Amino acid sequence: MSHQSDLISQDILAYLGQHERKELLRFLTCGNVDDGKSTLIGRLLHDSKMIYEDHMEAITRDSRKSGTTGDDIDLALLVDGLQAEREQGITIDVAYRYFSTAKRKFIIADTPGHEQYTRNMATGASTCDLAIILIDARYGVQTQTKRHSFIASLLGIKHIVVAVNKMDLKDFDQTVFEGICNDYRTFAEGLETLDGNSVHFVPMSALKGDNVVNRSERSPWYSGQTLMEILETVEIAADRNITDLRFPVQLVTRPNLNFRGFAGTVASGIVHKGDELVVLPSGKSSRVKSIVTYDGELESAGPGQAITLTMEDEIDISRGDMLAHIDNRPLIGDHFQADIVWMADQPMQPGRKYDIKRATSTSPGSFTRIVHRIDVNTLEQQEAPQLGLNEIGRVELALERPIAYDDYRANRTSGAFIIVDRMTNGTVGAGMIVAKALMGQNTSGSQHGRFAHVTATERAARFGQEPVTVLFTGLSGSGKSTIAYAVERKLFDGGRACYVLDGKVLRQDLSKGLPQDAAGRAENLHKGARIARQMNDAGLIALGAFMAPTEESRATARHILGQRCLLVYLDTPLDVCQSRDPSGLYAANVEGTVPGVSYSYEAPVDADLVLNTVDQDLETCVEKVIALLRERSLI
Ligand code: ADP
Repeated sequence: MSHQSDLISQDILAYLGQHERKELLRFLTCGNVDDGKSTLIGRLLHDSKMIYEDHMEAITRDSRKSGTTGDDIDLALLVDGLQAEREQGITIDVAYRYFSTAKRKFIIADTPGHEQYTRNMATGASTCDLAIILIDARYGVQTQTKRHSFIASLLGIKHIVVAVNKMDLKDFDQTVFEGICNDYRTFAEGLETLDGNSVHFVPMSALKGDNVVNRSERSPWYSGQTLMEILETVEIAADRNITDLRFPVQLVTRPNLNFRGFAGTVASGIVHKGDELVVLPSGKSSRVKSIVTYDGELESAGPGQAITLTMEDEIDISRGDMLAHIDNRPLIGDHFQADIVWMADQPMQPGRKYDIKRATSTSPGSFTRIVHRIDVNTLEQQEAPQLGLNEIGRVELALERPIAYDDYRANRTSGAFIIVDRMTNGTVGAGMIVAKALMGQNTSGSQHGRFAHVTATERAARFGQEPVTVLFTGLSGSGKSTIAYAVERKLFDGGRACYVLDGKVLRQDLSKGLPQDAAGRAENLHKGARIARQMNDAGLIALGAFMAPTEESRATARHILGQRCLLVYLDTPLDVCQSRDPSGLYAANVEGTVPGVSYSYEAPVDADLVLNTVDQDLETCVEKVIALLRERSLI
């Protein structure tokens, strides 16, 4: 239904055109029935002339019968029809209502406010621009006020209207209103998720109509906007992210051999014809050839638009991939932190496998740790072994496949996911990625105004890994380089930042001219360990492939690397290595240069992992190294 406008009878097409161009505001009302939520929604619809006459007559009749509002029309009856159904069968979790005024179109997500309905609120709030938090003027800021505000802000709602309702029962007393505003401000200051949000306060009576749509004469001391004025004017265009292009590919269409299009809805940012885009997680790139829609081609498209892109080059793009501008990429990884709202009776258990659906991509994954649970009433962080129905907590999540993602507060599409039970296929939770969870917590190191040094914790959060050096040791031909490069490939494809430091390569650079005897090899190893230490300081995983034939040289390397060293010994028999002879070392057999032949190779007794490259194929060796890194919680 639409608002009343003279244009409707005069020029319906002009009216429809105007209506089409109006900005849409989605909002949510939070509060219990007793706070006047239904009455408030009814009042908004009534005073903005959104109710059919016959409906109004029926309600006027019913109001007299039920008699809860004296001579006033019980506007709650307008919306309570659904309420009863909901309370019995919970068939409708969130009811959406549509209305419009001359300035804007609105969608109200109406959710029940009881504590057990956290999940409904989370469902309704995830696409909203604004939340109305209802407070009963007689009772002030309540536990549920805090809970609603926390969930709304956690879900990324940037505008809050605190509606101090039933002011008529407090004689529109200014001090009552200001007391409640102050209490709320004190609470909001301590809430990190509300940081940067706009918060408005309105004294009102939804029942009598004061300051809802029409300005009240009973609160002359209040010079702020009415609720409707706020809804009509609050600045939401700036909330839309038009900077960071994120296009999750929903469908690859190939109606004929000459056309290959990638369909989806622009989650954020703007795409132009000719833009160079990168496909993630694969990293391939190409330019946009055309932007096709049902109504024809476009030069550019922005958030919310459903489009099909064609690209200049034949590159591999499939459902679930994310397209972004080449110089403005999301993060990529398979391990991150998130805030989740648990919505199932069966509790969330760390270690159990779920399907994680983010935009158009799905990957199996599990929660490796619950960092904390948040008591939604006190907002305290607590330790918890699991999360139950309607509980909220911060968790660590490990996916089987890397995805491109953003922090939820930067992007509500690429930063959000739902959790699906693999047995029942039901949605059991919703999550919001906290990409910067660890950032800024540890600011040890020098500070120069805003330019605090980047800390190890921040790097670990950025890369999703703890830096470490994996030192592969063994005879020439045992498989050090082969395995190191294969592990690098596997880690890199999983979104990790890593690099192979190969002793042979180092000999062509920093170690050029070093002899190949035991002392020369020790020197090469120690130079390598120093570089690896720097790489670890930079947050990277270093994979060192060095023969490192003596116990002493390895001990020194470990000393240089401190705690951050894992030793992997490749226990490949000499005869196998000799037959492989990848470097020609055995064939050349220069006196004093061949460990295992001209001097002994001291097999390590304290290796973190021993691999036998005869019995175990390359794939198995790589998996074992990756498993070791996971076991030690490094990735
Ligand atoms: P290193 O770096 O230890 O001198 P390389 O990695 O250069 O040794 O060479 C090892 C050789 O052994 C390669 O030719 C590789 O293909 C072969 N190889 C056979 N099986 C394996 C395995 N399971 N792991 C690693 N390498 C293997």
